[in-house]
Amino acid sequence: MNYRHAFHAGNFADVMKHATLALVIDHLKQKSAPFRVIDTHAGRGTYDLRSEEAQRTGEWKSGIGRIVDATLPADIDGLLAPYLAAVKDADHTPGSPLTSYPGSPLLAHRLLRHDDRLVANELHPEDRAALTALFEQHRQVKVLGLDGWTALKSLLPPKERRGVVLVDPPYEEPGELKRLSDGLAEALRRFANGIYLLWYPIKDPKRTRAFHAAAAAHGADKMLVAEMLIRKPLDPDLLNGAGLLIVNPPYQLEGKLRRLLPFLAERLSVGLGAEAQTRTLTAGAVERRG
Ligand code: SAM
Repeated sequence: MNYRHAFHAGNFADVMKHATLALVIDHLKQKSAPFRVIDTHAGRGTYDLRSEEAQRTGEWKSGIGRIVDATLPADIDGLLAPYLAAVKDADHTPGSPLTSYPGSPLLAHRLLRHDDRLVANELHPEDRAALTALFEQHRQVKVLGLDGWTALKSLLPPKERRGVVLVDPPYEEPGELKRLSDGLAEALRRFANGIYLLWYPIKDPKRTRAFHAAAAAHGADKMLVAEMLIRKPLDPDLLNGAGLLIVNPPYQLEGKLRRLLPFLAERLSVGLGAEAQTRTLTAGAVERRG
């Protein structure tokens, strides 16, 4: 386990993933029934942007740094509102330029209502200790240290029978995309109507096709593929973009992402060829590009 999210927190991929998570949680809050957020690979929960790790890569500067205090078109401002409010609210020094960035569990926590629940699972002992300390006082949060793939099975279905599951592994091991699609199949057997956000890196876009095909075969009623490239993927050793497979997407999420992601691709681009697309994935076929 070499991957440390502290080097990457707040980068373009976090912005895309966390803004989408915030939109999903916002949707879940439209009904009064409580829900649960399950984060299988949660990280440490908060990241100091002045740390040596963050300074070394500077990735956040071309991610959240390009958005947090920017003047945005009105509709984009509306779509990013729940995300940006949570980012600012979670900052260590609110009111001044950003000095910390919330990981997915802290972001989710900021958006929950009193009766909603969060389970944050992290295997790395140091990051898990940080996460435990972060949520010590918060009874609606449970921190676990399971293997994320075990967590994906054993935590489902949640008692509330509604909620969102974020699966965000580090992709250090070969075959992680296969584990992701196998994990999804098992998860859907336990919690068929859950919303799932499955994150994956895009280096060479061709490498994700088998994953899409395998996921499509699992037969969820609806799946969306949302992808964003920050440059043309000419060098397959670079993180050229990021994707989310969204299972059982909330009503209207597709339309929101079709507006938001092209904006983010352009704003966060680092070269020619930045673009985004959102498409519906159905068993055996990929349809409706946009
Ligand atoms: N979800 C976090 C966020 O958005 O802020 C970032 C998670 S980071 C991409 C992946 C995390 O998975 C790392 O913190 C890493 O320590 C953890 N991890 C690695 N292998 C794991 C495993 N088998 N089970 C659970 N967590 C694991």
